[in-house]
Amino acid sequence: MTNKYQFLTGRESFYLEKFQEYLVHKDIIDPLQSLIQDAKSEIGAEIEIISSFRDFDRQQHIWNAKATGDRPITDETGKTVDPRKLSPIELIHKIMRFSAVPGLSRHHWGTDIDIFDSSKMNKEDVCLIPEECSGPFRELHEWLDDKIADNKAHGFFRPYDRDLNGVAVEKWHISYAPLAQEYYHLYSIDLFIQNLKDSEIELKDTLLEHAESLFNQYFKNIVLP
Ligand SMILES: [Zn+2]
Repeated sequence: MTNKYQFLTGRESFYLEKFQEYLVHKDIIDPLQSLIQDAKSEIGAEIEIISSFRDFDRQQHIWNAKATGDRPITDETGKTVDPRKLSPIELIHKIMRFSAVPGLSRHHWGTDIDIFDSSKMNKEDVCLIPEECSGPFRELHEWLDDKIADNKAHGFFRPYDRDLNGVAVEKWHISYAPLAQEYYHLYSIDLFIQNLKDSEIELKDTLLEHAESLFNQYFKNIVLP
């Protein structure tokens, strides 16, 4: 790959630093610390990261495991889907509701993290499901709703705040807008296609065939800050 923005596909790591045992983009550490402090002092919540930077290989592992049926694919209702009963493009849509194509994950940028409130649940018990956001983590998410609406979340927003028929709602996924919006605009369809061509991933031919519509439906189609 020769594109100068290939770092957006999770193949490089020069921009990362460790925070809470997790790799994140070095420029989000200060604003994230401010957000954590505010949550602690205002509602007593303990914001902790549960997932942050993911490299291309990690995402490829997840994708291939789902495509081959080694890792269960669930639909909106939590029901397990049998990949053998779907056409390749149907299978791609099922996977992309919840998992990004390798190279096209916002988690490659280090600007996006999944969070929870460790004052309410131990990390090993967290599943990252909507029921947690309306249950034990409700106070944190309602607080975040207000902070984001009032522009007081130190630059963080939720790209998957509502269902736009792309990626499913993920309240726990927050993104640092000042950097992520820049990357969002720099990430072109050409970069996506090049990324697919350079990949050894399951369903590659079908992904290439539908590259533009998938790119628009699952990558471009987010709740903007
Ligand atoms: Zn996430």
